[in-house]
Amino acid sequence: MALSEFRLIELLRGIGDGRADVCLGIGDDAALLRVPDGQRLVVCADAIVEGVHFPAGADAADIGWRALAVNLSDMAAMGARPRWATMTLTLPEADERWLQPFAKGFKALADMHAVALVGGDTVRGPLNVGVQVMGTLADGQGLLRSGAQPGDGVWVSGCLGDAAAGLEFASGNRAVNNDAERELCNRFLRPVPRVEFGSSLHGLATAAIDISDGLMQDAQHIAFASGVNIALDAGSLPLSNALTGVFEPSEALRLALSGGDDYELLFTLPAARERELQALLASHGLRCTRIGTVNKGENVTCALEGKPWMPSYTGFDHFGTRRPE
Ligand code: ADP
Ligand code: MG
Repeated sequence: MALSEFRLIELLRGIGDGRADVCLGIGDDAALLRVPDGQRLVVCADAIVEGVHFPAGADAADIGWRALAVNLSDMAAMGARPRWATMTLTLPEADERWLQPFAKGFKALADMHAVALVGGDTVRGPLNVGVQVMGTLADGQGLLRSGAQPGDGVWVSGCLGDAAAGLEFASGNRAVNNDAERELCNRFLRPVPRVEFGSSLHGLATAAIDISDGLMQDAQHIAFASGVNIALDAGSLPLSNALTGVFEPSEALRLALSGGDDYELLFTLPAARERELQALLASHGLRCTRIGTVNKGENVTCALEGKPWMPSYTGFDHFGTRRPE
């Protein structure tokens, strides 16, 4: 079913309607947005491409969710409050049977965070969804990668490795046969950005990043930006029952250390602030685990059962080649 331009815009309109800070949304040549006094504009953009970031033939609703989720996760890692999004949609064909569930998946997550879709562009080509999210931070706030201090603990939200495990199922490499496998698959298809939690880490965490490329690689970004060593204890990584129920221990550990797509927050925290963190976690109903320590030095190092240990895999890079180890 071919889609008229008018119908396409109708399907995308109404995502996040009613925000008072949208002076003009979809329908004109550009959107007009109001940034409140005392706030800074925070902007990020991430594209997802069929066959690279999600398997060919993935469900349209999951693609819509994911395209926004990966961007909201960047907002979460900055501690920013997301407000608005734009989208550049490249579609092989204008098919309403695809676009309707796609818009629904995007809207489901947008509504959870009151994000308004305020504009974009739609063109023909290989399936590719580029989303830009704009949000705000109070002047002087922001969780950067560069603030980790020797002596801080290294913490992570949620569990690690589930999404990379789930990709095995979502991509059709393995068939889903039970609830644990379904749960893993869903953790890949519908990542949950830690937006609320991220925004409450201001003044508490010294550095933060979201885990998109894998723990080892994203920890390396904090180590580099902060000029410190990050020492991880592989034995303390939080692994879900689903992951350990489906995968061998060594494979579960590999997925947790180097698998991407979890979109959990990795952050550093002075030891003196741990009680405050625990109180915060109780109020968010979220689990966080201390998985290492910040030291003077550089790079990410790893120990297993008290002995130095370096896995032979370190993460995904965007051109499909492994970094020198
Ligand atoms: P123009 O040709 O002036 O760029 P378009 O015809 O491309 O305008 O789009 C019409 C309106 O629909 C614009 O307000 C644009 O921002 C919006 N729009 C088009 N595609 C999308 C999309 N994928 N997501 C959100 N808004 C879109
Ligand atoms: Mg125009």
